[in-house]
Amino acid sequence: MNTITLKPAKDKSLARRHPWIYANAIDRIDGKPAPGATVIVRAHDGRFLARAAYSPQSQIRARVWSFDEAEPIDHAFFKRRVQRAIAHRQALVKNTGATRLVFGEADGLPGLIVDYYVADDALQRGQLVCQFMATGVEAWKSAIVDALTGATGCPNVYERSDVSIRQKEGLEQITGVLAGDPPPATLIANECGVRYHVDVMNGHKTGFYVDQRDNRVLVAEHARDRDVLNCFCYTGGFSLAAMKGGAKRVVSIDSSGEALALAQQNVLANGFAPERAQWLDADAFKTLRRLYDEGERFDLIVLDPPKFAPSREHVDRAARAYKDINLTGFKLLRPGGLLFTYSCSGAIDAELFQKIVAGAAADARVDARILKRLGAGVDHPLLTAFPEGEYLKGLLLQIA
Ligand code: SAH
Repeated sequence: MNTITLKPAKDKSLARRHPWIYANAIDRIDGKPAPGATVIVRAHDGRFLARAAYSPQSQIRARVWSFDEAEPIDHAFFKRRVQRAIAHRQALVKNTGATRLVFGEADGLPGLIVDYYVADDALQRGQLVCQFMATGVEAWKSAIVDALTGATGCPNVYERSDVSIRQKEGLEQITGVLAGDPPPATLIANECGVRYHVDVMNGHKTGFYVDQRDNRVLVAEHARDRDVLNCFCYTGGFSLAAMKGGAKRVVSIDSSGEALALAQQNVLANGFAPERAQWLDADAFKTLRRLYDEGERFDLIVLDPPKFAPSREHVDRAARAYKDINLTGFKLLRPGGLLFTYSCSGAIDAELFQKIVAGAAADARVDARILKRLGAGVDHPLLTAFPEGEYLKGLLLQIA
């Protein structure tokens, strides 16, 4: 059996059940494991620590499958892990046609994301969408697909592994049908009474920001009779939620024409009056300032930008970008107005994000009060041993 032996004292993070083994913790490798092959990880004194997937090119040289010495890594293992992930969602996630079924490390399947768009009527079929982001799940792809179709009864699986992180694992970016039929041009996800068109093949990530479900519901709850601004709106997730919640008017900004086209289809699909919504195909940074200069003001603003800091080197520049939009966001709010502000940059933690937002409020000369700390929904659980899993954080603030 291929074995990794760690340097002395380098077994501490595994003892805390953190699932990554960095290259610099490894003393020696016995055998010639292929990318994705299962290796046994041992402490320097030979003690069994874990079974893990080997990744020769990545600094994260191995990712733990199991800390249980008696648990072999085989087809049955993937069936159990997938079934366990799905059972948790069935108990916790309600009222939605779009669910994250597998969230990587938190579900004991490092590097795997699976979203499930559930069939909700006779016209629509279900669709599973996967991202394989590490050599281990890549090597076990067919076992994972079998486990997913078996456990859900959904025959259609599409792969969206067109993510740059695969380069670090020595893997090519790839998309395509893994099982069943190709996805339709758009499918409909029904979430909390709102119908959203989802473009699984060309949309962002798996087509839809499943992680923002609870936050969309919260926006809907606060939107009645308000003037709403949704910045970086993509296909209008928050905009539609605000309309559902009774917003008077919703102005939405995004620089992607295709995303805005889908957002407008969503307005029609829900039977909302199109004149309640205004869509600006433009740069958000400039448009926020322009709206301010023109004297526009809002009661509720959502700022949910793309990942400004893809890695640690980008943190300073990203911090300036977050501050910029939050500063103008505060200035655009009427007294008593609400700001829903987010960062999905893993490299910026919740504490730093709050500091950036505080700096923006100070420069805008407003007293901003945090009403709620926000994050991804319950189908994106956070493993206590793996704080790296917390990428999405947000704040709901009210200005005095
Ligand atoms: N809030 C969305 C997800 C945002 S994804 C939701 O809940 O569904 C980020 C979006 O920002 C993308 O749609 C992208 O087109 C847009 N974007 C990126 N840079 C931008 C810019 N400078 N100005 C406006 N939109 C931008």
